[in-house]
Amino acid sequence: MVRSGASPRLSAAVGKSLANAAPTPFWLDQPDAPEPLPALAEHVTTELAVVGGGFTGLWTALLAKERDPSRDVVLLEARSVGWAASGRNGGFCSASLTHGIGNGLERFPEEMPLLEKLGQQNLLEIGETIAKHDIDCDFQLTGELSVATAPWQLEGIEEEAAAARQLGHEVEVLDAEGIRRELDSPALVGGLKFTTGNALVEPGRLAWGLRRACLEAGVRIYEQTPVRSITPGGTGLTLTTPYGSVRAGKVILGTGVFGRSLLRRIGAYVVPVWDYALMTEPLSDAQLAALGWNGPRGAGDMSNQFHYFRMTRDNRMLWGGYDAVYYNGGRIRDEDAYSPATFGRLAEHFFTAFPQLEGVSFTHAWGGVIDTCSRFCAFFGSAYGGRLGYVAGYTGLGVGATRFGAQVLLDKIENRDSERSRLALVRSKPIPFPPEPVRSGVIQLTRASIARADENEGRRDAWLRLLDRVGLGFDS
Ligand SMILES: Cc1cc2nc3c(=O)[nH]c(=O)nc-3n(C[C@H](O)[C@H](O)[C@H](O)COP(=O)(O)OP(=O)(O)OC[C@H]3O[C@@H](n4cnc5c(N)ncnc54)[C@H](O)[C@@H]3O)c2cc1C
Repeated sequence: MVRSGASPRLSAAVGKSLANAAPTPFWLDQPDAPEPLPALAEHVTTELAVVGGGFTGLWTALLAKERDPSRDVVLLEARSVGWAASGRNGGFCSASLTHGIGNGLERFPEEMPLLEKLGQQNLLEIGETIAKHDIDCDFQLTGELSVATAPWQLEGIEEEAAAARQLGHEVEVLDAEGIRRELDSPALVGGLKFTTGNALVEPGRLAWGLRRACLEAGVRIYEQTPVRSITPGGTGLTLTTPYGSVRAGKVILGTGVFGRSLLRRIGAYVVPVWDYALMTEPLSDAQLAALGWNGPRGAGDMSNQFHYFRMTRDNRMLWGGYDAVYYNGGRIRDEDAYSPATFGRLAEHFFTAFPQLEGVSFTHAWGGVIDTCSRFCAFFGSAYGGRLGYVAGYTGLGVGATRFGAQVLLDKIENRDSERSRLALVRSKPIPFPPEPVRSGVIQLTRASIARADENEGRRDAWLRLLDRVGLGFDS
């Protein structure tokens, strides 16, 4: 939305806006957060064991029960359901299965009509499931704004809109005046208004609601239960946990970027990229009037280093993105979820985008890890002679697509031939990242080139052009 690094020293006003921000995800810091379920402390057997209590694991367990209510399903979560990316995201629940239409058209041009149809159907069914289980997560089919903050971002916007319309979307091209009628920011020079293809949701409450729906369907959920190892034996697999074990006929890994420690091959394709977000206090009526947000109340900008932002049901604004941080060596440490330098940069950008909100405070500031792969959309695989299925690589757009991924995994372990299982998206893998330490070097070089492209009216340097040619990318 607004570029440039944070000033080395934050202005007093920006520092003050962050002074009382709790370093925890807003969505999980709720008075009605459920108590954690007890850890597994015995040996159990089951038909299907699901590892991971994010959206992938929860949808897999719930859909497994919907497909066959008599199937026995156990879900094992290392910490608590939804604590990771699933409870820390922006809550944009997109119909896209391909990290956006542009990326999909580039990588799967022939399949896009079918991928979009399946994605729309998936989004519809997410809404139906939420309604059926009475999950109070403020799910709203809002559409979204895609906003330009510099004239170079408007190049090709008409073609983008035409391609989206051809795939069944309702989209309007807006000039500077038009976009500022939707949302009043002096930074905006134009954009696209989609009225289809996206819902906004409260992700923490969605995860907790799916957990309840799973329990009601008879799924046995164990929290605080990290799976330490997987061992084949007989016709099944044994999962070892600190105080117990599970013998399962089939296993599905919904472990996001953490899956690499259970199945090494996943680590060739995903890198942990940290993404950060801020949440404001509820805006007053006067502040809301000054903001003038009349259109779809979720938006993203068109820079390479993009911001995403949205309103909540109690009139807060979530403001996230821009920095996409890879810590060398692919390190994931809890303390990296707290990054004052990034929070300061985000807050500065926020007040530049919305000067009329001067004086607003942030109540929460947090980070989370994204499972980035080089094609930006999920990939699938199996191991142990088909007894285990896995998915990862959603790269920043998995809130909706994880449910589709769960369907694919269930098709796989049931040996079910379907429209889904025949997709090139499902059968192919992304280009792997090189091993460390080359991996860190390549990623940091790419991040620097991306930042330079934004400063240079979108012009991509030789390095980015080379990556484009081989179909390799880095995103959040
Ligand atoms: C800051 C941020 C903003 C984002 N914004 C959006 C957005 O607006 N829209 C969107 O579509 N996507 C967004 N995303 C991405 C989205 O959140 C993810 O794609 C999605 O939540 C992935 O879900 P998952 O279940 O695959 O992974 P996760 O949510 O990471 O869940 C994996 C789970 O597996 C568990 N686990 C791992 N290893 C083990 C083990 N050995 N034993 C037991 N359990 C294990 C973990 O504890 C974790 O709970 C964002 C992500 C972040 C971090």
